Amino acid sequence: MAQVQRMSRLMAKTLRDDPADAEVLSHKLLVRAGYVRRTAAGVWSWLPLGRKVLANVERIVREEMDAIGGQEVLLPALLPREPYDATGRWDEYGQELFRLKDRKGGDYLLGPTHEEIFTLLVKDQASSYKDLPVILYQIQNKFRDEARPRAGVLRGREFCMKDSYSFDTEDEGLARSYALHREAYRKIFARLGLDYRICAATAGAMGGSKSEEFLAPAEAGEDTFADCPNCDFAANTEAVSYELKPVDGSAVPALEEIPTPDTPTIETLAASLGVPASTTLKNLLVKVDGEIVAVGVPGDREVDLGKVEAHFAPAAVELVTAEDFTGREDLVRGYVGPQGLEKVTYIADPRVAPGTSWITGANKDQTHAKNVVAGRDFEVDAYVDVVVVQEGDPCPNCGTGLKLDRAIEIGHIFQLGRKYTDALKLDVLGQNGKPVRVTMGSYGVGVTRAVAALAEQTADDKGLCWPAEVAPADVHVVAAGKAAQTELALEVSEQLAAKGVRVLVDDRAGVSPGVKFTDAELIGVPKILVAGRRTAEGVVELKDRRTGEREELPVAEAIARLT
Ligand code: ATP
Ligand code: MG
Ligand code: MG
Ligand code: MG
Repeated sequence: MAQVQRMSRLMAKTLRDDPADAEVLSHKLLVRAGYVRRTAAGVWSWLPLGRKVLANVERIVREEMDAIGGQEVLLPALLPREPYDATGRWDEYGQELFRLKDRKGGDYLLGPTHEEIFTLLVKDQASSYKDLPVILYQIQNKFRDEARPRAGVLRGREFCMKDSYSFDTEDEGLARSYALHREAYRKIFARLGLDYRICAATAGAMGGSKSEEFLAPAEAGEDTFADCPNCDFAANTEAVSYELKPVDGSAVPALEEIPTPDTPTIETLAASLGVPASTTLKNLLVKVDGEIVAVGVPGDREVDLGKVEAHFAPAAVELVTAEDFTGREDLVRGYVGPQGLEKVTYIADPRVAPGTSWITGANKDQTHAKNVVAGRDFEVDAYVDVVVVQEGDPCPNCGTGLKLDRAIEIGHIFQLGRKYTDALKLDVLGQNGKPVRVTMGSYGVGVTRAVAALAEQTADDKGLCWPAEVAPADVHVVAAGKAAQTELALEVSEQLAAKGVRVLVDDRAGVSPGVKFTDAELIGVPKILVAGRRTAEGVVELKDRRTGEREELPVAEAIARLT
């Protein structure tokens, strides 16, 4: 027996107009259809229909994680500082981390992701190689103080993520756990009905550990991926934009001098860097009204001049030079990301243009940045070649011209290796009786983001249009007419529910059939059943939300079709 949800009692109103601050389709539609409401910037409340969709996504994720042997746990979101100090992330995470103090002055944080805490859990629970491998996961709200929480639930400051962590004693074990997750994610996203690509997320040269992203093509996406029309190569442009090169004397190029424009507008900045204004630029530090608002870091944060422009007056934005890094080592330290060169503490010049090399050196006092000759003027650890990938650039596998598209990052899988287990000293006793350092993977699915990504990919000009498995109901029954029709509509609804069909019924009095039809299309339940003029004769209309095909049928047959 499924539930009948009556719209006359539903704690959610549909809206005729888009919310004023909404830029992307999923934001507009989820608010208008009464699925979510904004509570604060990047903080969302999920109303009854939205909660159902979210729960359906959670259920699918849970089923597929259980299927690969994952064990569900629930760790706190309020976390102590110490483990994050041990791995350096208390500082490295920068402004995105919500830090807080308790009444005794103790430092806490709201978990943005839980590698440290899972590592400590396994350290506490596992003592021998016989306790491993293990996959642990949770479905829980995460907190990140995103610089620009826009786009509705696509980028929240509080959002639901499924995060899982694998622990193995051997590298082959890690590869196996990674492969299991990759398969589970393929199933999850296929069941959700999402169109997605698996993309390389980090260049091999940047550290060797493997990472892939699941990207859902959509205009609203904030990632760009390069896709080969001829072979299976697909990569986030972040992954193909950087190459970390070891020092090889003469091979290290001198920095180019890049003129700082007189009038720092988006257009002049972009022009001086030789890229379109909308291009996502990496490796830039951007100040707005004297405050650093973003720093481009490969694999971490990025700066999109187009977006900065959308939020701030262009004239207030300026690029800053190397001097600004003085005393801001916190910004520089995470430079290559967790998988890359770890010891970088300094970057010679934050300004960068396509084809320019960034040199990472040991000389912390370096403040000049013109015509520097690496190796002569300062010591060099390594350098990063920055290449902005353009549409039509040759595919590294087969040479075919690459296509570039926007996409939403819906999942991310990562072979971490021993970064966290080294920092927190997680060993188990090996087969030979000696301690073995555990190796680790971490894997995330954006649960709330998946709802928005689905909305983006499936909506049409009438509204949301959910795939069956995630829809908030199986059928939307519309009582189109007088009170008698409402009684009949409720009767049909009860009969459907008795057969296990999830029903949303529009039994609102004093609302015209026209408004009810519009709302049904906006809400996006896959089937719409209309109890109208002919229902007294035992005839209803059954309509497919996606195709718009409609048919008049005897009630019994309509019920049979829906069960
Ligand atoms: P992004 O590049 O979009 O900021 P991320 O790389 O920082 O995401 P991960 O740390 O890889 O995110 O987290 C795993 C997953 O959590 C992401 O693939 C994404 O689906 C989701 N996610 C991350 N940040 C947010 C957010 N602010 N709001 C909603 N979902 C998010
Ligand atoms: Mg992020
Ligand atoms: Mg990302
Ligand atoms: Mg990611």
